[in-house]
Amino acid sequence: MGGESASPVAAGETGRDLGAGADWEYAPAPESRDIVSIQSEYGLFVDGDFVAPRSGEHFATVNPASEEPLASVAQAGQDDVDLAVASARRAYERTWGTMPGRERAKYLYRIARAIQERAREFAVLESLDNGKPIKESRDVDVPLAAAHFFYHAGWADKLGYAGFGPDPRPIGVAGQVIPWNFPLLMAAWKLAPALATGNTCVLKPAETTPLSALLLAQVIAEAGLPPGTVNIVTGDGRTGRDLVAHPGVDKIAFTGSTEVGKQIQRAIAGTGKRLTLELGGKAANIVFDDAPVDQAVEGIVNGIFFNQGHVCCAGSRLLAQESIADTLLDRLKARLETLRLGDPLDKNTDIGAINSREQLDKITSLAAAGEAEGGERWSPVCPLPARGYWFPPTVFSGVSQSHRIAREEIFGPVLAVLTFRTPEEAVAKANNTPYGLSAGVWTEKGSRILSMAQRLRAGVVWANTYNRFDPASPFGGYQESGFGREGGRAGLAAYLHG
Ligand code: NDP
Repeated sequence: MGGESASPVAAGETGRDLGAGADWEYAPAPESRDIVSIQSEYGLFVDGDFVAPRSGEHFATVNPASEEPLASVAQAGQDDVDLAVASARRAYERTWGTMPGRERAKYLYRIARAIQERAREFAVLESLDNGKPIKESRDVDVPLAAAHFFYHAGWADKLGYAGFGPDPRPIGVAGQVIPWNFPLLMAAWKLAPALATGNTCVLKPAETTPLSALLLAQVIAEAGLPPGTVNIVTGDGRTGRDLVAHPGVDKIAFTGSTEVGKQIQRAIAGTGKRLTLELGGKAANIVFDDAPVDQAVEGIVNGIFFNQGHVCCAGSRLLAQESIADTLLDRLKARLETLRLGDPLDKNTDIGAINSREQLDKITSLAAAGEAEGGERWSPVCPLPARGYWFPPTVFSGVSQSHRIAREEIFGPVLAVLTFRTPEEAVAKANNTPYGLSAGVWTEKGSRILSMAQRLRAGVVWANTYNRFDPASPFGGYQESGFGREGGRAGLAAYLHG
């Protein structure tokens, strides 16, 4: 790993040495920050303009890779949420809510095109504020965010043919609360279907990653959407609570932890507000002995180390068929030796920074619990930068189903490895979780894929691949992973009167 501030993780913690050739290094290949101009202070985006918060409060958002403060961001209080909701209501009643779908589509296309035109700017900003590798923000987050606007622009004038009746009606004002793991992409997942169906929005980004949503607000202003159609209120959990509880909001869409999802459900019970929840997960990535091993290894790496494991559908439990478990683990470890952890803006970086000190503490304590409960912990030799929040890719073998690391969502680069002998045992172990968001199956037998997909209690089942997303493909969970779907025709239903 490059950079003079690197300090190696203690050898005992990280496992084996790299051996000969260990000092061979890539040259740094940093993406330039110059394309992004970050303001020192941001207001709230309300009624088509950036305004100072009535609360008078601001907070700092920091670069998790360096702990450097990036900007001072407004903390929306109750009065600010009131203004944003009132503005969304006006836009719903006077402009956006009454506009024909073919007109709404033009605005959505415009937003999609602007995201593409400013893709580098969005990608660099996202990596700075979130800590994710630039190759992921550049190749996944930003293109998918644009794709969501394009896809939903296509629906806006065809809702009458989507199976919801000849003239489906929007719900009204949507309050949308999103997490920090895919800040821009989650904003697109929430805003695009709501706008396409004629709703207006008040969106609250996560406290630690507000900047790409504020850049999106600029794009929305430049695209000329009627004022109030989209309002963006930054702040911490209190702002989210105020928005959820606001009587002027007709529908809540939330992505985040199961714990907060339950609080929201309690808060709006009996109010008649519509609700969709996209919550946590503890997905099984199941590898059978006839799977192509190298391909499966890539899928396992992508499943749990993509975005530092900050992914609700991460393949955090590897279920390996016993007859190939040792081979699979050996090849996986060899592959992990080649991953590069470090500067998120370096184009060669595979693993970026953990998004916040709080999240790092949570991962560290769950990994310690894994060791205390008898799991065998392994990480490649992986120097960690001295500043910022970092956690090495970590694999626990010898894990049993009762271990906390096999049951709780870690939301970090930590893989728990379990084994199975028969497909029945694989299904039983995979389904032994309060969650039900996603799963992966690796086998060369098509019939086995279909039979596993039928029996796995997961909203999404990937076969011989992992973490594939497309705006046309519905995404969502069962049980404690939430309810409602985002994406595809099913995702439109959440924003229409049924
Ligand atoms: P939260 O669920 O707390 O945060 C998600 C969003 O909800 C944020 O915008 C947050 O604001 C907001 N929020 C917090 N409290 C409330 C409330 N009472 N009412 C309304 N909105 C609220 O997740 P955290 O960021 O705290 O992460 C904690 C854990 O949750 C992680 O370790 C991970 O396990 C899990 N998680 C799961 C995600 C998923 O997609 N499944 C996404 C994010 C986290 P603020 O940012 O200010 O807290």
